[in-house]
Amino acid sequence: TRTAGVVAVQGDVSEHAAAIERAAAAAGESVEVREIREAGIVPDCDVLALPGGESTTISRLLAQEGIDEEIRDHVAAGKPVLATCAGLIVASADARDDRVATLDALDAAVERNAFGRQKDSFEAPLSVEGLDEPFPAVFIRAPAIAEVGEDVEVLATVEDRPVAVRQGPVVGLSFHPELVADERLHRLALFEAPAAATR
Ligand code: GLN
Repeated sequence: TRTAGVVAVQGDVSEHAAAIERAAAAAGESVEVREIREAGIVPDCDVLALPGGESTTISRLLAQEGIDEEIRDHVAAGKPVLATCAGLIVASADARDDRVATLDALDAAVERNAFGRQKDSFEAPLSVEGLDEPFPAVFIRAPAIAEVGEDVEVLATVEDRPVAVRQGPVVGLSFHPELVADERLHRLALFEAPAAATR
């Protein structure tokens, strides 16, 4: 049995937990999902999800609880992380906003709320590297990925801007894969991760 942690200081936690359970079943793995609101649980986790929500709040609570260092250690150990929307912002190297203390888990700069007011939220079928069929991607006040380092692989773009990236064990998505009945990206990120050596 693998242990999957869902960072649960704020944001859409139960949807990620459900998607992880479906992804594990699809991958033929058994999984125990734990919600992370305090230090001491991340070290027991094989894989982690960092959900969307509000990135300023999430980063503040992670630091306050001492979970930030544990996530950095998890990534340094080459263990998989799926970071979505606000979670992507927190996982990045630069949120271009001083109120967000980033984890520097992904060599990328992000731009918060980057897809404009008229398109506050939208859904688009997205071609993603590694998936055979498009993914129904739900964007909600989504960040764009403004810059990526050379070790970062772009998996999908919208209007020429990267919205799905991978660097070693970390997959970052601008959108919300947990809100649709499609667990392929949870499976790709958490149960089919490449060897740690790529990071
Ligand atoms: N706009 C939010 C932020 O910048 C992210 C939105 C989301 O996670 N749906 O924190």
